[in-house]
Formats: sequence, structure tokens, C-alpha cells
Amino acid sequence: MKMTILPTATTTNRTKLIITLGDITRQDTDAIVNAANTGLMGGGGVDGAIHRAGGSTILRECQQIISQRGYLRTGQAVVTSGGNLKARHVIHTVGPIWQGGNKEEASLLASAYHESLKLATTMNLHSISFPSISTGAYGYPVDKAAEVALKTAVSFLNEAPTTLNEIVFVLFDTKTYNTYSTVLKDIQANFPEEDYDETDC
Ligand code: ADP
Repeated sequence: MKMTILPTATTTNRTKLIITLGDITRQDTDAIVNAANTGLMGGGGVDGAIHRAGGSTILRECQQIISQRGYLRTGQAVVTSGGNLKARHVIHTVGPIWQGGNKEEASLLASAYHESLKLATTMNLHSISFPSISTGAYGYPVDKAAEVALKTAVSFLNEAPTTLNEIVFVLFDTKTYNTYSTVLKDIQANFPEEDYDETDC
């Protein structure tokens, strides 16, 4: 039996937080976020998919950034154009490699999300899509990563005004989607009633 998973949305301070199953390269949000590496040289997973779909312009811009400022540190974020993608911008950030949990992985992962959201707000963007940063080749356990990802988005929205009215988590497989969904429900259970409304859309 084929099951259809509907995206789930929750609204925090008028910004919609959406989790959906899909391919981030097909999103038409203002920006999509790339789970890049410190050299911004492309690679496997979502990074490879973004460079393949976006074309060589993105890599050229990445090389220019690296030649100007050196390697991108874990937890930081920079922006390039979206090349051939529907999204006009790609925000490249570097998540941590999972090393057991005692090497500041959680704060580095939170920083990757926070810096990307800050950059999008500085650029006056209205919508942004994230993949599940660090949970592929970098080995971060999905349940722990989902908690950091969603809590960082919620606290970003609660901390300061933002131009963003949509933050989308685009999850590539059902297991990751289901984990994010469970974590989102747990977070919603702890919101005061008036702060959110949940919809399947
Ligand atoms: P990292 O090196 O940060 O772990 P990966 O690209 O290896 O990054 O994996 C991060 C997540 O992105 C994984 O859950 C992987 O399944 C997912 N992913 C891979 N390709 C895509 C894609 N086209 N769209 C959305 N997510 C993707």
C-alpha cells in the first residue's frame, strides 16, 4: 500500500514551520539551504544534488567565496545564487560531523540553522527550505538532529523579528520525515495554546 504523507505546518509568531517529504532541489522557496562541507567544493548527498541541479555557476561562486575568506567554519553560513534552481539563492552551511555528542555537535548544528535563518532575514527573504543537516554522511542521529533543527527554528522566531513567513524542512525519506514529525508534535505539546495552530496542508 502506498501512503501519502501530507506536509504538516505549525505557525509560530505568524511564520509557518512546515515539514514535508521531498527533494530540496525542487523547492521554490526564496532560498534553499545546502548541507555543505568547509571547502564548499560540492560532494555527495544533498550537496551533490544541489550542484547537479543548479549548474556550474553555484560552484564558481563557492570557489570565489573560499578564495576571498578561506574555509567556511562549521556552524557558519554563506550565500550564492541559485543558478538553474527555482530557488533564487542557495545558503551554504556546514553541520558538524557526529563524534558521539561531546564535541559541541548540538551547538554547532544549532549554529548552522541559526546562521542560515539570520542570513535569510538579513536578505529580506520570505521563505527558506532546509534539508536535515548532518544526518547523512556526517552521521548525526536523526532524532537528536531533528530536535536541534526544530527547536532552533522556533527559538529564532521567538527571539527577533524576521521577514520569513515560511520555514520548510524538506526530508528525503519517510524515516527522517516521521522522526521530524514526532519531534514537532512534542514541541507543539509544550507551546502555549495561542502560539500555534496545526494544519495538514
Ligand atoms: P551531511 O553531510 O550534512 O550529513 P548529507 O547530504 O549526507 O549531509 O545528508 C543530509 C540529509 O539530506 C540526509 O537525510 C539525506 O538523506 C538528505 N538528502 C540527500 N539528498 C537530498 C535531496 N535532494 N533533498 C533533500 N534531502 C536530501
